[in-house]
Formats: sequence, C-alpha cells, structure tokens
Amino acid sequence: LSAAVHRGVAAAPGVASGPLVRLAEAAGASRADRGTPVEQKARLETAIAAALAELEALAATADEEAAAIVGFQIAMLEDEALSAPAFAAIEGGAEAASAWRDVLGSQVAEYRAADDELFRARASDLADLMLRVETRLAGAAPAAAIPDGAILLAEDLGPAQFLSLAPHLAGIALEAGSPAGHLAILARGRGLPLVTGLGRIGTVGPAATIDGDKGSLVLLSEMPAASIRRGAAKEASIPIGPALTRDGERVELMLNLDDPAAIDDGLLAAADGVGLWRTELLFLGRGRPPDEDEQYAVYTRLLARLGGRPCTIRTLDIGGDKPLPGLDLPAESNPFLGLRGLRLCLERPDLFLPQLTALARAATTYPLQVMLPMVTAAEEVEEARALLESCLSALGARGVAAARPALGIMVETPAAALALDTIRADFLSIGSNDLVQYVTAASRDAGGRVRALADPRHPAVRRLLSEIVEHGHRTGLPVSLCGDLASDPEAVPMLLRLGLRRLSVAPAMLGPVKHAIASWGGER
Ligand code: PEP
Ligand code: MG
Repeated sequence: LSAAVHRGVAAAPGVASGPLVRLAEAAGASRADRGTPVEQKARLETAIAAALAELEALAATADEEAAAIVGFQIAMLEDEALSAPAFAAIEGGAEAASAWRDVLGSQVAEYRAADDELFRARASDLADLMLRVETRLAGAAPAAAIPDGAILLAEDLGPAQFLSLAPHLAGIALEAGSPAGHLAILARGRGLPLVTGLGRIGTVGPAATIDGDKGSLVLLSEMPAASIRRGAAKEASIPIGPALTRDGERVELMLNLDDPAAIDDGLLAAADGVGLWRTELLFLGRGRPPDEDEQYAVYTRLLARLGGRPCTIRTLDIGGDKPLPGLDLPAESNPFLGLRGLRLCLERPDLFLPQLTALARAATTYPLQVMLPMVTAAEEVEEARALLESCLSALGARGVAAARPALGIMVETPAAALALDTIRADFLSIGSNDLVQYVTAASRDAGGRVRALADPRHPAVRRLLSEIVEHGHRTGLPVSLCGDLASDPEAVPMLLRLGLRRLSVAPAMLGPVKHAIASWGGER
C-alpha cells in the first residue's frame, strides 16, 4: 500500500478514509460557454445522453438490486417531464448548467421534504442524476456515482453543491478554498472533515485518508482494509447544564444553525437557544425560493422545538460567497463588497417580503428575534423596519394573526460597528467572520499570506470588539458574538475578557466551547 501526502489547511476537524472521488471543477460549470440558447440546449441534450449511456453501462454490470435503482434513474432521466423546465429556462436565456441545477435542485428539495419515506429515499437517486449531468456539462470525465462514505476532491465547492452532496460524504478535500469561507462553516457544523488550500492535485488514486485536524490528504494506492471515521476530537462530551465560568459566572451559549433538521433534540437541549439561523441555506440548491407558507412551516417547527427558549432567525444573507443562482443580478468584481445580505433584500422585495411575512406570522407562536445581516447604515434598518410594518398591516388586512418580532442587527461592517449610536436595533450580534475581513481588508475566502492577515486577534479587531461590547453595556442592548471566533475554544478566553457573555457557536463545537468557558477563571 503506497501513499502520497498532500498538505493543506485544516478547515474542519475529524479524520476519515474512503473511496476518493474527484468532482468536476465547480468553477468549470460557471465558466461554461455562454453560447446561444440553441447551443446551450444542444449542450444539455448531449450531457443527458452521455449520462444515460453511463447509467446503461452501469446497469449492465450491476447486481440485481443495484440494477433496479439504476433502472429507475434511467427511467427518470428519459422522462421528458424531468428536463422540460430546464429546456424552458434555457429558452428564456439561462445557461445550461445553471438551468439544470436550478430545476433538479428544486426537485431534490421537494423529494427530501416529502412526507412519504419512499420519496425521501429517492432524493439521493435524483441528486445523483443531477450531479452526473452537471459533471458532463462541466466537461469533466464521467462522474462515477458518488459512493457513500466518499472523500470528495474538488477545486472548490459552493454551499448549494455541498448541501446536495454532504449526505454521501465522509470528508472533503479542496485544492482552493479557505477555512473562513461558508463551505468550511457548513462542514464544521456537520462534523465533516475538510482540508482546504491543497493546491493542484494531479492524478488521484482509488482511496484517501483526510485529516481535518492536521490539514492533510493522504492518497492511497488501494482501499484500506478498515475505513476510519471520527468526528471532531472532543465532540462527544457536552457538559450538561448551563455554561458557567470557573467562578460560576453564567455565559449564554447558543447554536448557529443552517438546517435545523440536521440537529437532534439532545443537542438543541444542551444549548440555551439558537443565536443564528442562516436562513439563506433554505433557498440554495433549489429552483424556486420557498414561499411564505413553506417558510412559516419551517420557522414555526424550530420555534416549537425550542419551546420558548431564545431563537434568532437571520433574514436572507445572499451574495458574497453564497450566490443564489437564477437571481439574474449583474456580475460584480467584488461580491463581498457588493449587493449582499440586507442590501440585496431591500433591492428585491419579491424575496424579502415573503420572508418577513412568514416571520411575523411565526412570531405569534413563540418569542422570536429577527436579525438583519450586512447592515451598513441606519437608513437600511429603518427601511427594513418599514417593510416589516407593511407586512404586519397586510397580514392584519388579510385577517391573519401576526406579531412584531424583536428586530436586531449583525454587527459585521466597520461602518455599523463604529456608528452603533446612530442605529436603532433591539439587539446586536457580532459577525466576526465578516467584520475581520472588512477591518483587515483580507477576504475570508483567501489563502496563504492574505489569510494570515485576516486575523481576529489583530489589535484593530480587538479594539473594535471591545467598543461594541462597551456600547452594549452603556445602552443596555444585548450583545452576542455569532461569528466563528466564538466556536474556537482558544479564542473564548479573549472574548470573555472583552466582556462578552453571550456566544453562538457551531453545533459540533458546543462541547469544546462549554469546556473552555468552564476552565476560564477571569485571568488576564
Ligand atoms: C459572520 O459574518 O461572522 C457571520 C456570523 O455570518 P456569515 O458567516 O454567515 O457571514
Ligand atoms: Mg456575515
């Protein structure tokens, strides 16, 4: 058994081994030829035909059970009803890969959300079809179906792709990427080992071991006899009861969620509530955004599970490294400085109003805090507040029960952080991920030298954090920190010294952070 070791950056802890699968380069798909609708249509037809040929070859060699599954996939892919909406989108000007992904993504989401167990089980067959055709569109070698427990190797991966692939994977290796990007946040939240910044990796063997603690990928010449799989080292032990410092001081410890369905009740009970729900994840990887009723259903489901404990739901934070395909927005050379978060929502009431309406309805069931991301100026918050008020009036006119939720902001732009006295908000939550990148002018998805500059311990960041906390103390406004800094047990003493007593962390880090709080005794 020979092995080659590649070193990268540890981005999500855990160790796993398994079959290694290279994904068509994510960027390849978006770089695909623009071309005319006729050309785009031909590309999609060719890709579907190639995927069908691949499946037929598979069916010929598969055992009876596998052949039945592949047969079902072939029937689905041959059914024109499946692809017709994608061809329609192409006629409307969409590019082949994004049209395919949008249409299939929404079907996969519908299957996943179905009440019927059989339909839910079919979701992964459909996700596999989506990926096969997508891979062909990206011009890569035929994608073998991603076997369960695979280590995925890709140049980079978007959050939407991650969500559709994650159930199959034991680990992810990225040639590019960064530990501060959203993909890393998602991987850590799921306890999936991730190594970024590996650099170009040429030919790959059949198997690999990924070490998300050390930041390495070991290519193996054959499948190891026993596969290793372990999550973050201290993940298993979560102290019961409230988080207390060594001196018995209470620290509120909340969870950051993307998909509440991925969190079990035990973990939810071990925290004081939810400090950040990144709702944009509900919108990614599907064709149509969830409508008001669907959003109301998911929001109230989480509120009911929390049974009255604090719950902060963040409004859509699309843009930056979380683009929402199909929005038809002008390209930006600096997406992190562009139409992102609240800026985009204020520009697109078609997205924002259904969410605010669903939240106002959900607020009748349990207390709810609504949080606005990417706030820069007081006027933006006032505009959002006015929209919320208009939703409340419209609900009143419809005779639908509604309540006014608390309205707070993420403090993640230097402008907001330095002018908090001008902004009206019911609570503040520090988004250290973005605040650090904007203060240091070093983007959160950078690697190498630039990444080292995006340092949350830079004195400028610490001064700003201290001022925000001070502002909270002076005005009585609750202040929390929900960026990834709170999920770093080694950073916890610094945050407690700064005076923070409310942190919101990645689910996989709840235990380690609780331990870090318990061993802090107020020392400098
Ligand atoms: C942050 O910026 O710190 C944050 C919590 O939000 P996100 O990582 O989703 O941008
Ligand atoms: Mg942010």
